[in-house]
Amino acid sequence: MYDFVVVGAGFFGAVFAHEVKKAGKKVLVIEKRDHIGGNCYSYDDQETKINIHKYGPHIFHTPDKNIWDYINSFADFNNYQHRVLTTAGGKVYSLPINLATINQFYNLNLTPREAEEFLKSKISAIPTPANLEEKAISLIGRELYEAFIKSYTIKQWNCDPSDLPAEVITRLPVRTSYNDVYYDDNYQGMPIGGYSPIFEKLFKDIPLELKTDFFEKKDYWQSIARTIVYTGPIDRYFDYCYGKLRWRSCRFEIKKMQLDDYQGVSIMNYADREVPYTRMLEPKHFYREKAHLSRGTVVIREYPCDDPEAPYYPVCSKMDREILAKYQEAQSREKDIIFGGRLAEYKYYDMWQVIFRALKQVEKLL
Ligand code: UDP
Repeated sequence: MYDFVVVGAGFFGAVFAHEVKKAGKKVLVIEKRDHIGGNCYSYDDQETKINIHKYGPHIFHTPDKNIWDYINSFADFNNYQHRVLTTAGGKVYSLPINLATINQFYNLNLTPREAEEFLKSKISAIPTPANLEEKAISLIGRELYEAFIKSYTIKQWNCDPSDLPAEVITRLPVRTSYNDVYYDDNYQGMPIGGYSPIFEKLFKDIPLELKTDFFEKKDYWQSIARTIVYTGPIDRYFDYCYGKLRWRSCRFEIKKMQLDDYQGVSIMNYADREVPYTRMLEPKHFYREKAHLSRGTVVIREYPCDDPEAPYYPVCSKMDREILAKYQEAQSREKDIIFGGRLAEYKYYDMWQVIFRALKQVEKLL
């Protein structure tokens, strides 16, 4: 008999299992895939010696010193600061939208104060923006929205931006200074050696069964666990009884090149509708200190797609939110089970938020 059977070896499951094990509880982890780490899984490409994030780029960032200290106890981090560029209308601009973007786009030379006034003249005052489109227009105005946000968002989510939650766009700051670091968070960096070694440490001495689908033997797992910790998709848990929630997934096209540097930056976004991918990654740039050790470079095109077997992003449209409310109600009636993480909570969490919630959950229990 286990105190906990954890379903899923991503950040929620890993941190939860690690902490309860540390507190003397008996815990077993089962994972459907053939590797640990969930969508944070990374590996070193043997040929180029470049660390690749199999399921898309994961840049660690947090405003919370405790979470930063926690994750640093499992890995050393480099001092990578995330900077993104975007190509729109054949020109390259700085992201998130900052003074350089505004001046270049409007061919102006504004100071921060002038840019604030300028943006005010461009935005539409929408008292309570109800969706992504309204929120974006209330922050940057229609012209910048249409150039940098609208088509990218349609490609990314395959739905109308007016059907998406406003919070999706507030992930990106808008600045009237030349600060072009993507995140506002004080703590950021990339783990030396990638993410997988972090998971190896988190799961140290914890029994783990890979290639094991919880739903094939649900009754059995429940019979050997006092509590199940479920981190898979919430709609799957309830057998889609209230309908399917929409998830967005990604397909990656990987190319190796005999070049030192292909695009000069880790991520180049593509804002225009005609370009079928949303961004091009060159992971070598995440680890500048190791760049001289790599042979050539790797370039990855990211194509958003629908793949029910590989949920990445919760779409969270109005219809999804209605369905979710029913699953949440059903969740509250379940006993001896904890639901946690991006998939089980259907929330667009960042890594640090998942770690934070797993730690809080353990604190509450113990
Ligand atoms: N976004 C956009 N244009 C960009 C970058 C982001 O319109 O060049 C919007 C888009 O809707 C995206 C959201 O902002 O889904 C959040 O972007 P973020 O970079 O946080 O996405 P992630 O890294 O999680 O894929």
